[in-house]
Amino acid sequence: MLRITNLTKTYPNGTKALNDINVTIGSGVFGLLGPNGSGKSSLMRTIATLQEPDYGTIQFGEMDVLNSKEQMRTVLGYLPQEFGVYPTISAENLLHHLAVLKGIVDGSQRKSEVDRLLEMTNLSQYRKKKLGSYSGGMKQRFGIAQALLGNPKIIIVDEPTAGLDPIERDRFHQLLNLVGEEITVILSTHIVSDVSELCNEMAILHQGRVLMQMSPKAAIETLQGKIWAAPFSQSEAEFFAKTRHVISSKLLHGKCLMKIYSDTNPGSPFTSIEPSLEDVYFYQINGI
Ligand code: ADP
Ligand code: MG
Repeated sequence: MLRITNLTKTYPNGTKALNDINVTIGSGVFGLLGPNGSGKSSLMRTIATLQEPDYGTIQFGEMDVLNSKEQMRTVLGYLPQEFGVYPTISAENLLHHLAVLKGIVDGSQRKSEVDRLLEMTNLSQYRKKKLGSYSGGMKQRFGIAQALLGNPKIIIVDEPTAGLDPIERDRFHQLLNLVGEEITVILSTHIVSDVSELCNEMAILHQGRVLMQMSPKAAIETLQGKIWAAPFSQSEAEFFAKTRHVISSKLLHGKCLMKIYSDTNPGSPFTSIEPSLEDVYFYQINGI
């Protein structure tokens, strides 16, 4: 269990990236969902003990993380948002190198660990290839392999699916799901479907604050019977937007499908629809 309390972080230029964050993260894949600039990377770097908060505490089991950084690093794996790989080295060689840095000095132990991780991330057949020739999906799977070196109890992965094509993303989801069956995974993303597919628990982050923490299922239930939709022309949609609590307005076959929030039936042409996690996200972010 990772318990974050009152965590606040201000950068030297005055940006308050984290504003009194309180979150509790259990087992499985935890989703940290938020738009660009909401503070996801700031929170993850702080948990990874790479930067100091102004104040607040992080407790991992019995460990006071901010006062036990070395100890935290031995149980933590981290895949940063900007994950640079040495392009001319092979996956296998870089994993060996990183394993040594992680303190796995015994040669045969290291080999079996590297082999196991290449196998798990479906990279065994590409182990000798230069990392520079890897596709986006392969690079991210390699990122998971390196995060898992040394048997961490928790891994933190910062927007790992951004830029992956649908097939690569699906494969990556399956890998994270597998890892989440064994250890805690904290996944940050701005992609709602990452969370709906993978997470049993999530928090929505916006402007450095946690707007809600809940299971996606419970979050969707809070909007049951309150989301209404109707197709409009774009000019009609703009008119309606002034008078309604608009959740989202999306083009579909050249029409604007407008979704609004209303406790009561807004009347024709709106019809009631099943809420989705995306509705929850927009509802929270738009502050309706
Ligand atoms: P996210 O990962 O959700 O996009 P970040 O944690 O990167 O959000 O950023 C949160 C806020 O903090 C943004 O306003 C960003 O511009 C600012 N920020 C991030 N890193 C720094 C930094 N090193 N110095 C100053 N401001 C920063
Ligand atoms: Mg980020």
